[in-house]
Amino acid sequence: MLIVMKPDASDHEIQRVIQIIESVGLKAHLMPGSNRMAIGITGNPGPVDPSPFADLPGVSECVRVTKPYKLVSRELRPERTVIRLGEAQIGGDEFAIIAGVCAVESREQTLMTAAAVAEMGCRFFRGGAFKPRTSPYAFQGLGEEGLKILSEVREQYGLKIVTEATDEPALDLVERYADVIQIGTRNMQNFSLLRRAGQARKPVLLKRGMASTIEEFLLAAEYIMSEGNYQVILCERGVRTFANHTRFTLDLSLVPAIQGISHLPIIVDPSHSTGKREKVIPLARAGAAVGADGLLVDVHPYPERALCDGPQALVFDMFRDMVQQVRAIAEIVKIHMEEGITK
Ligand code: PEP
Ligand code: MN
Repeated sequence: MLIVMKPDASDHEIQRVIQIIESVGLKAHLMPGSNRMAIGITGNPGPVDPSPFADLPGVSECVRVTKPYKLVSRELRPERTVIRLGEAQIGGDEFAIIAGVCAVESREQTLMTAAAVAEMGCRFFRGGAFKPRTSPYAFQGLGEEGLKILSEVREQYGLKIVTEATDEPALDLVERYADVIQIGTRNMQNFSLLRRAGQARKPVLLKRGMASTIEEFLLAAEYIMSEGNYQVILCERGVRTFANHTRFTLDLSLVPAIQGISHLPIIVDPSHSTGKREKVIPLARAGAAVGADGLLVDVHPYPERALCDGPQALVFDMFRDMVQQVRAIAEIVKIHMEEGITK
C-alpha cells in the first residue's frame, strides 16, 4: 500500500504514520516527491488494512498497489529517479556514458583507458576487479588490487567508478572502493546478494538476467529497494535467443516497456549483448534512439591482448566516434521524450 501525504504534512505527521507501520512489523519506505511525501509499505503478505491511516492528520489518501513490484513502480513514485553522484548523474536530462575496460588487467591498461574516457567528457568509468567467468580457468580479475587501481582512476581523472560484486565478500570490498556497485546478469536472481546490495549505501547498477522477463527483472530491483536502497539503475544487456549472428539479442523494446512501469533509470549495454566490436556502435546509437538513460561500454587500448571480452572492446578511435554519435542522437531524443514519459 502507498500512503500519500498532503503537500503541507508536517514531519511529525509523517513520523506518526511511520510509527504505526513499524508497530505492526511492516516496513515504511519514504518516497519524497516534488510537492508531497509518499510512504510505501512492504512486508505484508496480503493487502494492508488502510483504516489505521485513512483519518490520520496529514494523510491525503491510501492507495492499494496491485502490481507484484511496488517500490520500483511509477504508481509509487510518478517522478523519474535520477541518480546523482556529485556532478555526475544517471537519469533525468543527462545521457550517461559508463565506459572502460571489461576487466582491470593492469595499472597501465586501466589508466590509459581512463584517460581516453575522461578526454571525451564522460563521467563514469567501468572496470571489473571480480569477473564472473564461464570457465573456472579463465582470468578471474585482480580482486582488491584491481579496486585499488580503480581508486587511482577516480583520483587522477575524477571519474566515478562502476565495478561488479560477484558475491557477498566481494560486495563488502566493492562497497568500500566503488561509487556504483554492479550486479551482473548471472547474479540477477542471487537474492541474498541483492539483499546485501540493498543494505549498501551506494547506487546499484543491476543488469538484466540473460533469460529474465521484465517482471523478474523488476522484482530483482525490488529486492534491492525493499532493503532501503532506492538508488537502482537498470541495464539491458541482451537475452538468449536462437540468433547466432550475435552473442545475445539486445532487447531494446525493454527500454520503453520499463519506462512505462518504473521510475528507475535504464541504460543499455551494446558490448556484452553483441559480443562483437563492429556491432557496438550501431547498437549504441540504437540505445540512444530508443530513449535509454545511458550506455555501458567496453573499451580497450589493445583488445587483441585483452584477458576478457577483447572481441567486443572498442579501440579508442571507435570509442570517440561512438560518443560523438550517441550524444547527437540522445540530445534530440531526450527533448522529444520529456513530455511523453512524464505524462
Ligand atoms: C560486465 O559488464 O562486465 C559483465 C560481466 O556483464 P554481464 O553481467 O552483462 O555479462
Ligand atoms: Mn565483459
